Amino acid sequence: MEGLKGKIVLVTGGSRGIGRSIARAFAAHGSQVVLTGRTQATLESVAEEIHRLGGKALPLTCDVTHKEQVEALKDKVTSQLGPVQVLINNAGIAPAAGFLEMADNLWEEVLRVNLTGTYYCSKVFLPEMIASRWGRIINIASIVAKVAFSHTSAYTTSKHAVLGLTRALALEMARSGVTVNAICPGYVETDLTLNNAKLMAEKTGKGVEEALKLMKGSSPQQRLIAPAEVAELALMLASKSADGITGQAINIDGGAVMV
Ligand code: NAD
Repeated sequence: MEGLKGKIVLVTGGSRGIGRSIARAFAAHGSQVVLTGRTQATLESVAEEIHRLGGKALPLTCDVTHKEQVEALKDKVTSQLGPVQVLINNAGIAPAAGFLEMADNLWEEVLRVNLTGTYYCSKVFLPEMIASRWGRIINIASIVAKVAFSHTSAYTTSKHAVLGLTRALALEMARSGVTVNAICPGYVETDLTLNNAKLMAEKTGKGVEEALKLMKGSSPQQRLIAPAEVAELALMLASKSADGITGQAINIDGGAVMV
């Protein structure tokens, strides 16, 4: 993976799951990782883990739904490390709910975190990328950016919109040196998936193992994706070899969705 060493890489939602795995992978390739999330203690424990492995990580709190926090984050990162060169918009929530039962504030929160958070971070960190004529924005979307699952109307809507933003921004940035892409995972082995399996188990009375089996069964490979596999794809999209890849939404789902 050429071109990752020394790069300043910001990962939102870096305290666990896919974000943690992406942060570890970039640090292992010599990038300077900025880990953000809402809880300093959990960010620090991931940063310590990365330091123990010989990597560089700076833990800084930021709730992506507050633009002033994203702007303050930018000021801190720029003064401590320099401009962010790779932005991984990973922070996300995926609460399941039937459309009619869903509380309005759940709808609003999902859109605020998944879509507006991605918008704020892109808006705040993009100008420095344009100024240096190089940058990468990688949005962790989902296969529900392309297809829909029942009881996920807010989540599905937010991820379809993230994909729309990815494509529109990629076009605007096409000659700026900045690429904008989305990664679309199927079910990944993280807390988010486990929590949804527990919810599914409660609703159906089938048990968590059975719910996980159903999730695995939705993939032709009959398995969950490991967070490290998503991280490998993020590394590739950030690397020199991906200069010509922009506006794309790459599925990593064992063949479940083929569009
Ligand atoms: P996770 O719940 O394990 O981690 C999500 C991270 O986002 C956590 O660190 C959390 O603290 C952070 N976060 C949530 N709200 C935030 C906010 N307002 N500000 C800052 N950070 C916030 O989930 P995950 O499975 O690692 O998911 C990461 C991303 O991948 C999400 O965008 C999710 O939609 C997407 N995704 C996950 C799966 C899956 O099966 N797990 C599949 C497709 C896409």
